[in-house]
Amino acid sequence: MVSTCDFMIKIYNTLSRSKETLKPLKGNRVKLFVCGPTVYDNSHIGHARTYISFDVIARYLKYHGYSVFYLQNITDIDDKIIKRAKNTGTDPLNLAREFEAEYLKDMKALGVENVNLYARATEHIKEIIAQIETLLDKGFVYETESGVYFDISKCPDFGKLSNRKIHDLNVHRITPNTDKRNPEDFALWKKKDEEPFWDSPWGLGRPGWHIEDTAITEEYFGSQYDIHGGGLDLIFPHHEAEIAQMESSSGLKPMVRYWMHTGFLNVKGEKMSKSLGNFITIKELLKEYPAEVFRFFVLSTHYRSPIDFSQEILKQSQNSLKRIYKFYETINELLNEDIPKNGENDSLYGELLEDARSKFLEAMDNDFNTPDALSILFDFVRETNRMLKEKEISEESLNNIMSFLKEVEKILGFNFTARSKKSHEHLEGELIDILIDVRAKLRERKNWELSDEIRSRLRDLDINLEDK
Ligand code: AMP
Repeated sequence: MVSTCDFMIKIYNTLSRSKETLKPLKGNRVKLFVCGPTVYDNSHIGHARTYISFDVIARYLKYHGYSVFYLQNITDIDDKIIKRAKNTGTDPLNLAREFEAEYLKDMKALGVENVNLYARATEHIKEIIAQIETLLDKGFVYETESGVYFDISKCPDFGKLSNRKIHDLNVHRITPNTDKRNPEDFALWKKKDEEPFWDSPWGLGRPGWHIEDTAITEEYFGSQYDIHGGGLDLIFPHHEAEIAQMESSSGLKPMVRYWMHTGFLNVKGEKMSKSLGNFITIKELLKEYPAEVFRFFVLSTHYRSPIDFSQEILKQSQNSLKRIYKFYETINELLNEDIPKNGENDSLYGELLEDARSKFLEAMDNDFNTPDALSILFDFVRETNRMLKEKEISEESLNNIMSFLKEVEKILGFNFTARSKKSHEHLEGELIDILIDVRAKLRERKNWELSDEIRSRLRDLDINLEDK
């Protein structure tokens, strides 16, 4: 961890459309909220892109000594959940629980582990109702036969995040409804006489999609906090609606200091999504590739840029990652050799390392620029490998390199130690397979002597081959 005064983290704020220096509202506490999933199916790798990006952002803030409270909601009540439950003959809330559990398993498998609290919409109905009541008292919302709606004509700056004027709005994910005052008004409460529903001052019904987030963040963070994140698709209308709700109900602006949005994971230029059917689930991907390969693939592109998914790029990521594992192993092996504690080349190795380390951190400080940080790491690996061939290294220099690699692991969420061990296990398995193949060929040629020798020498290593 470095001290909190010798760096400045710049964050691109969607609201100001510029990079700003991070200044938390209170001391070194950062309250970070990221929109969680709607749990009606298994998550795909587009979702994973967004959550891995915010995982690294949270890791980096922590690395710099910030005390991060990372909150995520779980949308466990939504038309899509109800529709899926009807189609499969299940209870919507059970279905939501099932896919929430799958989502959490996927996140764990991906090494996304920095969320402090997952908050379900259905467990915050009381807070949702209270926020709607405040908005009603202040005259920002109105009740009709079908529900309670936000009157966006009462909110002159509606559209400031997406830079749209109220009358240019083309509102989606909002059901057309004739009893609304303006077509763009959005529902905070939908009156329903079919389960799942909850009781409210406006009768039985369900919350609208946007209100759960502001009710949840108000409960845990208060009406103003530091960072709100999500994918690009959420800027409009979801995040605009959140701003309208929270700033109107509290009267305090801005609701959030920094709005951060991730670019899409695309397939052949099109956003990966359930509706387009061009998705690969996280589970499917992890059957073929280790989670670290996907993490590396995600981090090779800046979090705000689109990222095109293809098997070839994933393979390239795998190969690049192997170079880092290999380097890690080289350093580890050298550390186990009998080498001098200090040496005449310490300052040369030290300069190379300090230069790489400071550039790596500078890249991360600059709006979490992971592709630049990775390329600095690769330059360092290449240069050090080159120097190792020519100049003797000491234990101290090796320890310093190892500490840097550990810092990189922590910041980016890799585990070189475990992976390099795994790659050894992998290699062992492959070598045994080669011996088995060679032995089978020898037996085909009736070379019993040599085939028996292979078997007996493997037995010496506690590996028993059975001929069936
Ligand atoms: P949803 O469950 O659809 O609300 O999505 C959960 C999160 O994943 C949101 O922040 C979305 O913006 C994000 N997301 C969905 N699809 C993609 C994609 N193809 N690329 C990047 N982020 C995505």
